[in-house]
Parts: sequence; structure tokens; C-alpha cells
Amino acid sequence: MSITSAEIREKFIQFFEQRGHQRVPSASMIPANDPTLLFTNAGMVPFKDVFLGTDKRNYTRATSAQRCLRAGGKHNDLENVGYTARHHTFFEMLGNFSFGDYFKTEAIEFAWHFLTQELQLPAEKLWVTVFEEDDEAYDIWAKHIGVPEDRISRIGVKDNFWSMGDTGPCGPCSEVFYDHGPEVWGGPPGTPEEDGDRYIEIWNLVFMQYNRQADGTMEPLPNPSIDTGMGLERIAAILQGVHSNYEIDTFQALIKRSADIIGVSDLSSKSLRVIADHIRSCSFLIADGVMPSNEGRGYVLRRIIRRAVRHGNLLGAKQTFFYQLVDELVKLMGEAYPELVEKRHIIEDALKREEQQFEKTLERGLAILNDEIKQLSGNTLNGEVVFKLYDTYGFPMDLTADIARENELVIDEEGFNAAMQAQRERAQKASQFGVDYNAQVKATTKSVFDGYTEDKAQTTVVELFHE
Ligand code: ATP
Ligand code: MG
Ligand code: MG
Ligand code: MG
Repeated sequence: MSITSAEIREKFIQFFEQRGHQRVPSASMIPANDPTLLFTNAGMVPFKDVFLGTDKRNYTRATSAQRCLRAGGKHNDLENVGYTARHHTFFEMLGNFSFGDYFKTEAIEFAWHFLTQELQLPAEKLWVTVFEEDDEAYDIWAKHIGVPEDRISRIGVKDNFWSMGDTGPCGPCSEVFYDHGPEVWGGPPGTPEEDGDRYIEIWNLVFMQYNRQADGTMEPLPNPSIDTGMGLERIAAILQGVHSNYEIDTFQALIKRSADIIGVSDLSSKSLRVIADHIRSCSFLIADGVMPSNEGRGYVLRRIIRRAVRHGNLLGAKQTFFYQLVDELVKLMGEAYPELVEKRHIIEDALKREEQQFEKTLERGLAILNDEIKQLSGNTLNGEVVFKLYDTYGFPMDLTADIARENELVIDEEGFNAAMQAQRERAQKASQFGVDYNAQVKATTKSVFDGYTEDKAQTTVVELFHE
């Protein structure tokens, strides 16, 4: 095997340690004292207050490998998992940070040096983007580093102005892409084909300059700072000579183990990728203190577990399988993350309980949905049936949406909303008998198609009327 993921993680940290950065261990995925954020979604999150100037450290440069989750809130990649070669719910972000110390020039120099000297990536495979108005960054890449101008593009706010959430530290950014070669479909950044997996974004250098307020105004930060993030799994794919994150050492081990437990031999299925991804996010969430529940973070966890179980079911799993993967995960990542070893039994128990509880719901719901799909003439799933599945049988909406997508079907949202409205009216009538169902039922007015941003609403209806 070429360089392992664990070795790359260490190489990165050491590179920046040697350049005066303090090594900081990964923080929890549950942000401390930050009600604006569901999960730690980037390496900068634990340093948010340092950027804002309200927390002082005895260092001005830091480096970390931070565990991140993107399955809710502003950065949500759950729907991408299984479909792209580069997105996970859980991943590790390697980062170097400057708190009012160095700025754009050094940040770009460090990144270029690490990629081309330390990792020996061929310069001609690297492409760069800058924020469209950031002439300074453009010139550093073009003149100082010498990247040919046809490999630098200027991009707008959506991709090149980074923010953690709706409020908080933010600023223009510059991203480095790697060209996986013509055998992979996709186009360079800024082209219509960029969503393919040929040109993959590996590193984002954020020039932190503002604090976005709730009303949208941008307040300058006390000191311009640097926040960078490189996905460990993406750089590992390049260094291990594969085109997909799911082919790197860690994922292959998890995929093989899943296939063994479930009893399938084809290692290339989307479902195995989903399961391998989800065991990481679910295990780390539980290690960080989240338990499956009907609200907030616990509800996100519950839905990820259920999604994994459904994919096991698709592969023909005959027994509770998901919790059995914890063993392999601990072997792979326990050394870097001791909390995983410590919480191992709590993780296994919680996963097993949730899986067993969900199996019956899944079986019943799938039977109804499959019948419906079989007798369908068009490509639209009846909204009333979808609502009944969710409302009467507790079948999660995102699973229905997932299955619809796999079968190239759309959900009749109008019919769904009408069925939900009818339900609400029945609830209102019920409230006339002195029971205040309304408060909770109102929670369902937000579209259930919103996915993970709304939480509690979906299960309360089921609990209210059918238990
Ligand atoms: P993309 O455009 O590919 O979705 P991004 O611009 O959303 O990535 P950033 O917020 O800039 O990502 O995060 C910094 C780095 O973290 C990325 O350059 C990438 O290497 C890595 N990364 C981001 N999202 C994921 C993910 N879902 N899974 C794995 N790595 C990721
Ligand atoms: Mg993204
Ligand atoms: Mg991007
Ligand atoms: Mg980015």
C-alpha cells in the first residue's frame, strides 16, 4: 500500500508544526456553547471565538485534523453520499490556521509547498479558483507562485465566499482542485461539468475577514486571519492512486467488512458505500454524546442509522448488521480517536437497539411502497400513499424520497400536502375536545421535503394519532 490515511494525517500536522503551528486535537462534533450550529462542519469551528477576537490563545498559528459532519444545517451532504466519489457525511478536515498572524501570501505558499514538494503532486494537475473580486489572491497564484492563468478561475459568492453558517466568521476563499484525468467525467471549476468527479476540490483556503451578523451586515474582524481545510479522504484518494474516496484504505476496509457481514460479493454497490459512510458518522455522533431520538441532533442520527439499515436491507441483510461494523471502525480509527475505543460498547448497544426497533417499520413500509411502485403507470408516486406511509406507518420521508429517486420517480407533493392538510383539520377538530394537539401539529406546516432542517415535526404527527 502506498501512504496510508493515518500517515497523511500525521504528515500534514507535522508539516505545519515545523512551521510554528500549535497542534490542536480534534474537538467534538457537537459545537460547545454554539446554538447557531448543529454540528462541527469544518476545522475552524472550534476556533470560531478566536477568529472573532473574544477568545485568546497563547498561540497565533494552529493545525488540526478535525472530525466533521455535514448532515444538516448549512452544509449538508447526506444526499450526495453514494452518488458522488467525494462526499461523506463524516470526514476529517486537515487545517492550518492563522489568528491575525500570516495572511494570503503565506497561506498560499504553505499550501503549494505542501502539495507539490511534500506530497510531490504534479503541478500541472492542480487548478485554482479565487473569489472573482480578489485580485490580490489572483496575483499571488499567477505571479508569485506561477500557476498558468488558464488554470486559475475567478468564481462568485456561492463557491468562493466561505461562511460557517448564516452568521459568524466568513471571507473570500481560494480553492485548489486536482485533475483526476480524462478517464473520469467532469469539467474544471466554473464550467457546467464541474459537478463531475474529474476535477476535485481538495483544499479550501479561506481569508477570514468578516463576521456576518444576523441582519446580513458584514463586520470586519479585529485581525484578518486564515482558515484552511483539506479533506483527508480526498487527498488520500489522490495519493493512493484511486479516483474515488470510497476506494481509499479506510473505506475499502469498511466496505469489505460490510459485504462480509451482509453476505454479498460485489464490492462496488452504492449501498455498501452508503453503509461505510454512515457507520462513521453514526459511531462518532454517539461517541460525542448524541443518542437516537425524535428531535434535533438525535433525530439526524436516527435518520442516518435508518438510512444505513435500509441499504443493508436492499442488499438482502438477514440480521442486524450495522452495529457489527463498529469493531472494524475501532481498528481503523481508534488510535487517532481514543473516544471511539472508550465508547465502543455504548455505540454498539445504541446502534443495535435502533436497528432492531426499525426493522419492522421498514419491512411493512417497503412492502406497501413496492406494491405501489409495481402498479404505477406514470412516474409520479401518489402523494396520499406517501403521506399515509409516513403518517400511519412511521416510514421516514427521506427514505421514500431516496427510493423514489432510485426508481426515477417523483413524489406528488401537492397530493402529499393536501393529505397533510386534511390531517391537520382532523387534528383541529380533535382539539375542540379539550386536547391541545394544535401546538404540535403546527410544527408540520413546514414542508417535510425540506429534509434535515426540520426535525421533530415528522414523528410527532405519527405519535399523536397512531399510538
Ligand atoms: P464541495 O464543493 O466538493 O462540496 P466544499 O466547497 O463544500 O466541497 P469546503 O466547505 O470548502 O468544501 O471544505 C473544505 C474541504 O473539505 C474541501 O475542499 C474538501 O476537501 C473537504 N470536504 C468538504 N465537504 C466534504 C464532504 N462532504 N466529504 C469529504 N470531504 C469534504
Ligand atoms: Mg460542499
Ligand atoms: Mg466547493
Ligand atoms: Mg470549498
